[in-house]
Amino acid sequence: MNTSSANEEKIDIFSKEVLISREEIYSRVEQLGHEISADYQGRELHLVGVLNGAFMFLADLVRHLSIPCHICFMHASSYKDQRVSSGEVILMHNLDLSGKDVLVVEDIFDTGLTLKHISEDLQLQKPNSLEICALLNKKIPDKVQVEVKYIGFEIEDRFVVGYGLDYAEKYRELPHITCLD
Ligand code: 5GP
Repeated sequence: MNTSSANEEKIDIFSKEVLISREEIYSRVEQLGHEISADYQGRELHLVGVLNGAFMFLADLVRHLSIPCHICFMHASSYKDQRVSSGEVILMHNLDLSGKDVLVVEDIFDTGLTLKHISEDLQLQKPNSLEICALLNKKIPDKVQVEVKYIGFEIEDRFVVGYGLDYAEKYRELPHITCLD
């Protein structure tokens, strides 16, 4: 029986390759903030951060918005302390977005399964508009069809942590994005 778990794994995180530095993240998030502000000029934007992974991205993004906005969160989970998705997406929220201009803010667009579930779930509330912003877009074949209007960075198919992204609830606090593999 394999008794080791992700929590017991010893990883020297600072020996791993930094894929995207904090400076690169800052400047791209600033650009995204300007782009989103221009697109929603004259409107009030409802940002829905997807917990837990998008907490840092959302916090930085709103600092670069120059339009009035409401900030709320939903919880989505599909990974269970592993590096591969369980395939089952569980959503939790208490949102009322009817008639609102909504922007979902997510950490990473991997297979797209999570974003598709979120999008279908929030569409049921009949928002005035619904768009998605993801910090990372992983280049993998056979992605689920979902339109992500704003993307921070395109990355290869590698498992990344930092800047909100975890492995077994660790490494979310890193200010940059690191490859774990
Ligand atoms: P999808 O449903 O698009 O396959 O996966 C979306 C979720 O899986 C993301 O919100 C994120 O929590 C998790 N995820 C996907 N790829 C990675 C990765 O490379 N690193 C980490 N830490 N999480 C990932």
